[in-house]
Amino acid sequence: MVVHKKTKIVATLGPSTTSYKTKLKMVKNGVNVFRINFSHAEHETVRKQIKQIRKVSKELNTVVAVLADLQGPKLRIGKVAKGTVLHPGDKITFTTKNKVVTDNDNKTLYITYKQLPQDVFPGETILIDDGKIQVKVLKTNKKDTVEAKVVEGGALSSKKGINLPDTKISLPALTKKDKKDLLFAIEQKVDWIALSFVRSADDLIMINEYIRQHSDYKIPVIAKIEKPEAVKNIDKIIKQADALMVARGDLGIELPLQEVPLIQKKLVHIAKLHQKPVIIATQMMESMITNAIPTRAEVNDVANSVMDGADAVMLSAETSIGNNPVKVIKQVTKIIKQVEDSELIKVPEIAPVPEHRDERFISQVVCFNASKIAKDVSAKVISTFTASGFSAYKISARRPAADILVFTANKRILNSLALLWGVVPFYYDKMLSTDDTIRDIEKIACQNGYLQDDDMMVSVLSMPISEKGMVNTIRITQV
Ligand code: PEP
Repeated sequence: MVVHKKTKIVATLGPSTTSYKTKLKMVKNGVNVFRINFSHAEHETVRKQIKQIRKVSKELNTVVAVLADLQGPKLRIGKVAKGTVLHPGDKITFTTKNKVVTDNDNKTLYITYKQLPQDVFPGETILIDDGKIQVKVLKTNKKDTVEAKVVEGGALSSKKGINLPDTKISLPALTKKDKKDLLFAIEQKVDWIALSFVRSADDLIMINEYIRQHSDYKIPVIAKIEKPEAVKNIDKIIKQADALMVARGDLGIELPLQEVPLIQKKLVHIAKLHQKPVIIATQMMESMITNAIPTRAEVNDVANSVMDGADAVMLSAETSIGNNPVKVIKQVTKIIKQVEDSELIKVPEIAPVPEHRDERFISQVVCFNASKIAKDVSAKVISTFTASGFSAYKISARRPAADILVFTANKRILNSLALLWGVVPFYYDKMLSTDDTIRDIEKIACQNGYLQDDDMMVSVLSMPISEKGMVNTIRITQV
């Protein structure tokens, strides 16, 4: 039996999770979405991993989503000799011309980003290796060389990432590598795509157009918020994105660390206002990469994300290269359940009341009122039938106490629903009368442990029953 909770877990795949057995145990213990980080993934390995995930899902009779996380315009330095150290005050040079190997005598760093000299200005900061090394730009020849002075030094190794928090980068949102990875992800029928280093709403318009051209159906896109520009443009970004990720790793490099907690709160709030899922990512259980138990601060971090009403928490290195990914998942699930089962905690509901001018107003009013009625009658389950997933998003956004059982005959959206707070997706393609449908799903809900004798269920349906969905009816039943 798979553990049940409302807040979802996204786990990143990597060398620690290659075996089928590990994935099976991770899902049993709470993973809802597996993330493939295309910064590090080989296509052939990914193909095998996805095959295993689909098999796990079948074996456990549960829905699991696959998220393809594209690298985006990530910048890196070239090769560096072992033992190289940069000291405060050192003068260094970035070159886009020659593939030099940097060492202690030669302080020239090769960088793959050809536009760097054109994009930077004197006084701007360049961060190397997650901000551990900080340098200030002194001069640029606007062609192929940038001179800089080390402010914060440290040991340097090959291929470390660089961040330019002050610079408007002219690289496209979708690099050549991203396009290749995206085509592969489409071919593999992944359920979600995440775009890294989103800067504006145009980046999402561009990726959505690319998906439209290469996929015969819409794959939902998560905007990873990890740049100051994205935080500034969030009101426009949220309209084009299908979900947000608070990517605290790069966010905490590009912005002062102390700003990240408030930005996290703001992003969760905005996502919920727009009734779109939001994931809190990075360093949630960082110490468990090597340790058997998390720190108190990490436990608090996960618990607070649950209390704020995030749809999901995400694990990166903890599961991809950590010592014991299954243990990490068990620990996160325990924290989530402790908060969710507490009488003291009520996840805040801030999704707006539907208005006449809203898209699909009738369906929105039905979902809104189904959640209200479910509260009034203390229903254990809200069930909905959806073709597009619309009603699942709308009901989940209300954060009801009842479990949200979502039935769909649309195999293309089924897995993606696993990311949504409180949603339990089921494949369902029978076209029965309304009475027979209600009886049938009541049976499914009982068999899966969501309903018992005398429990109330609120169902959201379209009448007459239609493959197109468009819910317009609320039905209350008692087992
Ligand atoms: C992050 O920066 O927090 C993040 C999730 O991105 P990645 O793991 O791809 O660096």
